[in-house]
Amino acid sequence: MTIDPTKLLVRLLELSRNLSAVADIDVFMMSILSAAVELTGSESTAILEYDETKLDFYYKYVPWFQSESIKGARVPLNDSSAGWVFLQVKPLVIQDVTNDPKYYSKNDELPDFKTSSLLAVPLVLHEKAFGVFEVFNKAAGEAYSAEDVRVMESLASLAAIAMQNDLLARTVQTSRTESRELDRLKSEFIAITSHELRTPLGLILGHATFLRELISEEFHEQVDVIIRGASRLKEIIENLSSVDNYQTGGSTLRSRKVSMARIIEDVSASFRDVAGNKGVAIKIEIDPSQDLWLDVDGNKIAIVLSNLVKNAITFTDNGGNVTIRAERQPDFIKVSIQDNGLGIPARDLAHVFDRFYQVESHLTRRHGGMGLGLSVAKAMIEMHGGRIWAESMEGMGSTFIFLLPVNVNQAAPEPAMPFAD
Ligand code: ADP
Repeated sequence: MTIDPTKLLVRLLELSRNLSAVADIDVFMMSILSAAVELTGSESTAILEYDETKLDFYYKYVPWFQSESIKGARVPLNDSSAGWVFLQVKPLVIQDVTNDPKYYSKNDELPDFKTSSLLAVPLVLHEKAFGVFEVFNKAAGEAYSAEDVRVMESLASLAAIAMQNDLLARTVQTSRTESRELDRLKSEFIAITSHELRTPLGLILGHATFLRELISEEFHEQVDVIIRGASRLKEIIENLSSVDNYQTGGSTLRSRKVSMARIIEDVSASFRDVAGNKGVAIKIEIDPSQDLWLDVDGNKIAIVLSNLVKNAITFTDNGGNVTIRAERQPDFIKVSIQDNGLGIPARDLAHVFDRFYQVESHLTRRHGGMGLGLSVAKAMIEMHGGRIWAESMEGMGSTFIFLLPVNVNQAAPEPAMPFAD
């Protein structure tokens, strides 16, 4: 029997199209098996996969009519046609299995099927065989031809890709499940730890503040060190739990009408001394005729702005400037914090909003911080349906920009510039 080349081409084309379209691997593999039987004029077929732990083969795919017993059967690596094909990574034709020592006849003792001839090709990926694709019993009186071998090799390469895709998809799925579980454990850990730390920390702060009132002024400095340290710890804990609360949906917004101009003025006023001591000037550029009122949780937006202004001052040297701008756009208010400091290398820009991410190594850097400020800012802006991103040139400075919808239920558009997600 010779195969009509057009029919063969159409069938292969159809299978390769289905390769990406069919979601269920079993459905696709059944169509590969039917094509193999049909195009080679065989009675049956099977795909065997090599089992690296047991060092033999098992039947991975057999036609639906094949008995259940064959599915559980194993084929040894040595003294079998599958083993030969697998080890040589070459096709094999046995026209009469009764006269060939390479044929492993034990599985013929299983019910329903008796092999007389076979054609087997390796399933190869990256030049390494991982299984064998076989067809059995060419129609009476005929021998497997070189053309049959080519057909089987084409089908085998489609089968190999499909099986590999399936394996990759399952690996991705497993990694996703594992990472979700890790994420859950991490959130749980953060929630428990912050809760457990908050109470003793509150006591330390409360008592230290109380003590400060009682003791003479000469000891104030020592107690101030305790209060500053405890306040810093409190800030870290609040930051940790606010990102987590946002990600787990545990954080709520207390929105009301506030003026963005007012938030900017308050926040910059709170940083005047720090900036002044460092020789960094804070400028505000707002057109007073603009309406900058919007519906937001003012405390959260103040935290966002504080984190951004604090960073801008931290990463700008003496003599530098930090400029805060706000402008009304049709449905949004756009705020930017620009500095002419260190800047952020392009490779880091996409990651600065990740939790615990810091451009300099935590051990060598001169500045404090835990790499949480920007992730907190991002979480809080996104809670409001807004967007935040950064633009920067190393050595030239950075600009952090956020957009907040004026009305609560309106999401901000994608920014025109690339932003770190
Ligand atoms: P941290 O509190 O440790 O500074 P952030 O999340 O606020 O953490 O910032 C993450 C990192 O992004 C910082 O460690 C710094 O390397 C970089 N970064 C943030 N803002 C600026 C800025 N304005 N200029 C330069 N680098 C910045």
